[in-house]
Amino acid sequence: MDTFTRWWRSLCSLPIPPKIRHFIFRLAQNSIPTAQNLYHRHCLSSPVCPRCNLCYESVKHALFECRFMKKAWSDAFNLFLCMLWKCWNARNAAVFRNQESKPLRIEQEAQDYLDFYQAAQDKQRMQTQSTTDLDILVWEPPPVGSLKLNTDAAISPHQNRTGGGALVHDHSGKVLAATAFNRMGQMQPQVAEGWVLLESLKWCRDNGLNIQHIEVDCKNLITDLQSTNENLSSYGTIINSIRRMFSSLPTVFLHHTRRQRNTAAHNLAQMSIGLDNTWSWNSQDPCPFLL
Ligand SMILES: [Zn+2]
Repeated sequence: MDTFTRWWRSLCSLPIPPKIRHFIFRLAQNSIPTAQNLYHRHCLSSPVCPRCNLCYESVKHALFECRFMKKAWSDAFNLFLCMLWKCWNARNAAVFRNQESKPLRIEQEAQDYLDFYQAAQDKQRMQTQSTTDLDILVWEPPPVGSLKLNTDAAISPHQNRTGGGALVHDHSGKVLAATAFNRMGQMQPQVAEGWVLLESLKWCRDNGLNIQHIEVDCKNLITDLQSTNENLSSYGTIINSIRRMFSSLPTVFLHHTRRQRNTAAHNLAQMSIGLDNTWSWNSQDPCPFLL
């Protein structure tokens, strides 16, 4: 059997609609009606791309190189890179934790993770733009010589997860460390904010980050932390644990901030939803993205 027949047979065996199979076949024969092909057949007076008017419209140009196609391919390529990472994580989950993932789930998770990340980036860009117009909504650094912790929570009903993000800045506004983490299940917003603050305080303690200021954008959480009421629910347990941690940190001040001033923590929290494991970073490592 020659190479072409083998190729044709494997194409026929793919679970794709016949229309697409036919298109791929014509593509391989270079017989799709691009401007260049039509020009060579004397059906068209110009071989130039009718979309960008910049180059001859070959198959390669029409499908890959034309500037109108580049965005679609960069999206596909980004997804492909996320798939590589998710496949490797799935392999590790199977080998080390005996958890097998369905292929469809791997693909869905890669897509979700990419969507969340891009949405957070877009939001950050938009907020950076809008906050340059409104100085009052910009995050403020702590006093000289002190560190500030910002935290925020995110809840994803779609993935049934609650996540959190935290960053520590110095007085110059430099990020010294950051973390993002999540857990299964959805919490009430206030409970999620409390849980994220508690986890972030533990993370600061374990990493020797001596913070003096904390900012959260949930007013109710601050009210509950400052009240003397005892609450026996799981939320009450979180509140009590935070109070206990505060009692060992007498110089820490807790502040309320507006959501618009807490965007970095907010974006990390959004990103955390797609993570398989806790992500933690400090300024000694190169930063994988804009914080
Ligand atoms: Zn073009």
